[in-house]
Amino acid sequence: MSNTIDKFNSAVMHTYGRLPIVLDSGSGRTASDEDGKTYIDFGSGIGTNSLGYCNENWADAVCAQARKIQHTSNYFYTSVQADYAARLTSLTGYKSVFFCNSGAEANECAIKIARKYSFDKYGEGRGTIVTLENSFHGRTVTTLSATGQDIFHNYFFPFTPGFVHTPSGDIAALEKLLEEDRSICAVMVEFIQGEGGVNVLDKAYAKRLSELCTEKDILLVADEVQTGVGRAGTFLCSEQYGVKPDVTTLAKGIAGGLPMGACLAGEKCFEVLTPGTHGSTFGGNPICCAAAAAVLDTVTAKGFLASVQQKGYSIVSKLLGCSEVEGVDGIGLMLGIRLKTKDAHAVLEEAAKRGLLLLTAKNKVRLLPPLTISDEEIEKGIGILIDILEEK
Ligand SMILES: *Cc1c(COP(=O)(O)O)cnc(C)c1O
Repeated sequence: MSNTIDKFNSAVMHTYGRLPIVLDSGSGRTASDEDGKTYIDFGSGIGTNSLGYCNENWADAVCAQARKIQHTSNYFYTSVQADYAARLTSLTGYKSVFFCNSGAEANECAIKIARKYSFDKYGEGRGTIVTLENSFHGRTVTTLSATGQDIFHNYFFPFTPGFVHTPSGDIAALEKLLEEDRSICAVMVEFIQGEGGVNVLDKAYAKRLSELCTEKDILLVADEVQTGVGRAGTFLCSEQYGVKPDVTTLAKGIAGGLPMGACLAGEKCFEVLTPGTHGSTFGGNPICCAAAAAVLDTVTAKGFLASVQQKGYSIVSKLLGCSEVEGVDGIGLMLGIRLKTKDAHAVLEEAAKRGLLLLTAKNKVRLLPPLTISDEEIEKGIGILIDILEEK
């Protein structure tokens, strides 16, 4: 066993089941381990390396910013944060943004906005937030409460109160809940549940949800931490649903592999957070903003998002020709493969041995390739995967 793995395990908390691979460098869509073995990456570090490994423009932007000014507190202004915020809000049609460092933090910000919006308008007692069963919203104590899976509600008692969960796609249950529970201030949803197993939200449900929220002055919060920034083939996944959430959170792929989260707020609630009510030491860090701007340059280039959709279709059509594949769920380059007989995690382990990095989500094989993946790499990677799936 590698010296690195022993050293790692003797000093780092064992919070992950890791593969016995030490990744050492990367270029394009290929990662290399310590022994020089290469892997086509269909996981992007969980949807984070949206431009693949060490993209030239991205690395130049990061290095140039590191040589200019790497951090200031948020008691000052920087032009990189100003420029990126202006581009992001104008592109998405939101009025303001708060920058933080992760998806969980972006959701914490959304939760605070929803509760304060309601407090400012209606006073105390209207702080409940509805989320969907099987959702995933993060690992902080509050975002674990928000997460609609019992398995996450263990050990760390007491959890933050004020969250209720409702079955995804069940309009009648939603209507009943919003009618009966007058303490609700927001509903938070993922358009495609990522960790929950790549489950696509029903379109009619999303539409009705949006109408109900508007009628009852309840904020609609979209957790686009995994689906956002082009992953689903539109900059925001909500565009494909024809709904405009009051708040949208982003993270994962936003800065191409540097830690960054964003909470976007619309007309109703963009001024809810006032001086002293929220903050983040690292939020809006200049290097992360420069990296995010480089991601935005690529993702907004003419034809890029259409190519993401196209690559998604191409992967799905190849997979549907495989006898072991029951079906493929997801949109764009966020895909979950339902298998007939094989165990998803065993497939992932075998793929790693053959030079292909995959993810799983519940019992599905999950694909989140870099948005820049080429047709040749798709051909090669899916070829390896299908070989494994078709073996007896
Ligand atoms: C990954 C994820 C989070 C948590 O993001 P972190 O950066 O790990 O805090 C929250 N919501 C969704 C939908 C995610 O996929």
